Amino acid sequence: MIRILAAAAAALISVSTAFAQDEDVTVIHAGWLLAVPGEAPQRERSIIIRGDRIETVEAGYVTPDGAEIIDLSNSYVMPGLIDSHVHLQHELSPTRRLDNVTRGSADDALQGAAFARITLMAGFTTVQDVGGDLEASVALRDAQRNGWITGPRMRVSGPAVTPTGGHADINGYNLDIMHAFSSPASCNGPADCRRAVRELVRARVDVIKITATGGVLSQTAAGTEQQFFADELESIVEAAHMMGRRVTAHAHGVTGINAFLSAGGDSIEHGTYLDDASIRLFRDNNAYLVPTVLAGATVAELAETADWMTPEVRQKSREVGPNMLAMLRRAHAGGVRIAFGTDSGVSAHGQNAREFQLMVEAGMTPMQAITAATVNAADHLQMGDDIGTIEPGRYADIIAVASDPLEDVAALMDMQFVMQGGEVYRSE
Ligand SMILES: [Zn+2]
Repeated sequence: MIRILAAAAAALISVSTAFAQDEDVTVIHAGWLLAVPGEAPQRERSIIIRGDRIETVEAGYVTPDGAEIIDLSNSYVMPGLIDSHVHLQHELSPTRRLDNVTRGSADDALQGAAFARITLMAGFTTVQDVGGDLEASVALRDAQRNGWITGPRMRVSGPAVTPTGGHADINGYNLDIMHAFSSPASCNGPADCRRAVRELVRARVDVIKITATGGVLSQTAAGTEQQFFADELESIVEAAHMMGRRVTAHAHGVTGINAFLSAGGDSIEHGTYLDDASIRLFRDNNAYLVPTVLAGATVAELAETADWMTPEVRQKSREVGPNMLAMLRRAHAGGVRIAFGTDSGVSAHGQNAREFQLMVEAGMTPMQAITAATVNAADHLQMGDDIGTIEPGRYADIIAVASDPLEDVAALMDMQFVMQGGEVYRSE
């Protein structure tokens, strides 16, 4: 059990001038500390936290006067986890298609707040939401920053840029409904696709998400190959880069993966049918792959058990799902940089850490999987100076579990302690 001890009142008074900036000092006594994933863990370290940032990490257990001590001497302590691919506003369910036409932006934002809380409690202190209602996405991100809701730090894309009839366009309804709900992010031709990117930038999204290929859960029987023309992909990437945004692409089929990376794209989500040429393109672009193997496992399972799946979706689930583990194995062996992402919302929120076990099944070591969810994901999200390690100057986003995650990554399914920005949100 974790004890949080307040120091004696006398000590508090004696140091009050030293901490005149009115910032609380907290010290975590970590029995085992993985400060920088990729480097060896250390025993018996003290993490000194001032306000919302890490000030220093010291050997042994130190107890500065006036500091609050958090005893994690029997725990395994590491940086907060980062999920590069979530959909906080939804969770796959039999009523999803009806929800799309009955819920509004406010419903999406409030549902997102509930799922954000669950995600933080599972040890994920930062996420990238790559697909949701535009107004709700930006509002959720800002509400978390303002301290109005409890949840991970967020980067958001809002709705994915898609061709008309493409994977992220409204689909599976009658024509009247589809006209009424057409997304501002659906576009055709290079000029129109620049407009879509610019509208999203105007709405203050952090990153541009596109659907470079068909997808599993759309109802159009349009396959899982390339859906944008090369000139459209180039115009999207160029317009986004010009305005300081990276572009990440949902892509299963190899035609779309390679066309997007050839157009200068920054990262690929899923990557199911990538080939040797894709692996070279990843390396040339220094692009990240976000494997979302958990989504593949989830839809493959649902294809056999869920009676509400339409025939179009069931068939694609059976094709795509089982291929994702082999895809990650090939990409990892080929030296592709991996950033952790789950597509949670397809799977249940709060189960994000199941992805670690699948990554290990695909041939990654526990250390490599954890590095993908910390150091790599922080770099992928352009937040490497702020999160991803326990080092001076980083946010105090710190988690702990009861057993060694380098022995068995399943340890990360049972979160004991969650701190974000120096605040304790979970302690048991
Ligand atoms: Zn997704």
